[in-house]
Amino acid sequence: MTYDCDVAIIGSGVAGLICGGLLAKKGVKVIICEKHTSPGGNLSSFERKGFIFDTGPHWIIRCGPGELMYNLFDKIGILKELKFIKYNLLPWDLVLPDGEKNILPETRKEFHAYLKDKFPGEANALDKYFDEVDKAGKDTLPKIFSKTVTPLSELEKQEFYRLPAVEYIDQHFTDKNLKLILSYTAYPYARTSMALMAGYWKEVDSQTNYYPVGGMQGVANALAEGFKSLGGELLLKTRVNRILIEKGKAVGIEIAGGKRISSRFVVSNADARLTYLGMIGKDFLPHELIKNLDEWKPEKGAFYVYLGVDMDLKKAGMGKKGIWYIPRYNLFGKVIEGNGEDLLPLPYGLLVTVPSLMDPSIAPPGKHCVLLCSCYVDHDFHNNWQTGPGGRRTPEYRRLKKVVADQFIDYAEKILPGLRKSIVVMDTASPLTYERYTFNYKGSQTGWSWEAETGGKRLDQASCIKNLYLAGHWTAFPGGVAAAALSGMRTAETILSEP
Ligand SMILES: Cc1cc2nc3c(=O)[nH]c(=O)nc-3n(C[C@H](O)[C@H](O)[C@H](O)COP(=O)(O)OP(=O)(O)OC[C@H]3O[C@@H](n4cnc5c(N)ncnc54)[C@H](O)[C@@H]3O)c2cc1C
Repeated sequence: MTYDCDVAIIGSGVAGLICGGLLAKKGVKVIICEKHTSPGGNLSSFERKGFIFDTGPHWIIRCGPGELMYNLFDKIGILKELKFIKYNLLPWDLVLPDGEKNILPETRKEFHAYLKDKFPGEANALDKYFDEVDKAGKDTLPKIFSKTVTPLSELEKQEFYRLPAVEYIDQHFTDKNLKLILSYTAYPYARTSMALMAGYWKEVDSQTNYYPVGGMQGVANALAEGFKSLGGELLLKTRVNRILIEKGKAVGIEIAGGKRISSRFVVSNADARLTYLGMIGKDFLPHELIKNLDEWKPEKGAFYVYLGVDMDLKKAGMGKKGIWYIPRYNLFGKVIEGNGEDLLPLPYGLLVTVPSLMDPSIAPPGKHCVLLCSCYVDHDFHNNWQTGPGGRRTPEYRRLKKVVADQFIDYAEKILPGLRKSIVVMDTASPLTYERYTFNYKGSQTGWSWEAETGGKRLDQASCIKNLYLAGHWTAFPGGVAAAALSGMRTAETILSEP
């Protein structure tokens, strides 16, 4: 049988682009269909009045020589198109509810010493805690990012490591400020299991965070260009509606308008529920898979306020690292003081970052891009943000977004007085915005939830349908650019190994 191409890929997120690039390099004929006007999915940026804003990711891990992303860029032949700034991101600095600012040391050892000095009555509990995470950290994240599929380390088989980190912290420490510092510096791992928290501390010591000069879109564009120069075809503004199945095998895709593209393999980089329930249909799926798709929780969405400002933010005390403003004594939903009531979706604090302090090229001279982010926001908040039937954007939706954005700016003013009056340009994104642009279920940032109860669950990349594979964060724990890229690489390798 002759096909239009060897592999049809649905979506040009980082996983789709990496998968396509690696296949094209080996002479495989690949077509990527992307519904949006530009490639990248969550890995993207937009421009307003000369300010470039990254839509989501603040950093990409493992872009240094010899590391995962670097090697993938090298294979696709785009290393020379990219320039990265390495920065120490962790632990995050914090402003606590009592107004105290904590500028935190950047190695695990110094951080441990800093806390013992600040909270001498809890020295033993701190020693025990770091002992545990040291032991566990030896093999969590390295395993997750190894070549083989390792959803979570063996550690999670033990009860201790399945415990949500915030539970451990709440049970073993007394001082409420210490509880906040331990939880938020390790954002967002504190909501997940102790095993992943341990992996986080390992990551702190390796500090392998990078920012791409020019913004995130540059990475997606370079990957797309690399793919095309290797012979791949990228069709933008091309939405895939159906995966074609014949005799139990995927044989191509149908795009909006009804045109069909036949292929020997199909790879879906799109949302997993949409892939299975929307593009295939329950009749072709095993009961267990349908149950998982219904029951597993997606990771929460985000609310971002993008600000272009005319203000000297370095003088105002900002650096390359972001600062968390924590308004309440609340450990990611576990209230430790107060009634925990929140009218607006900011129960877990506001992250304030200024990427233009790292890369001035993304803002007009002397000005800055500021991101105000709340990263754990419900899609369902106020009846799906007061949208109408089918997610229709109503005046109430726009009003609610404005109210929330105003609250974020008020909070940010506590760190950066004068911010509001320096705003030149502003935009906002709710979980529904992310969902609209990327089709990720409920605007999920990283696929399935990180919370301990769902944590580590991922779908298989080889689907239940012959010749159909999945690539992207719904198949790669813990999600994020590097994990998604790794899943794209694994799918490419699997297809290349087929006779
Ligand atoms: C607010 C936010 C902050 C984040 N911060 C970080 C961070 O700091 N560091 C980090 O590493 N990661 C971060 N992430 C996570 C990271 O961005 C994602 O995990 C990763 O980019 C996912 O890549 P992916 O390839 O799985 O798919 P996606 O980026 O979801 O791309 C899927 C693509 O498929 C396309 N598509 C979907 N359906 C169809 C269809 N039917 N037809 C055609 N095309 C379709 C979409 O348009 C999209 O382009 C963040 C994410 C968000 C939202």
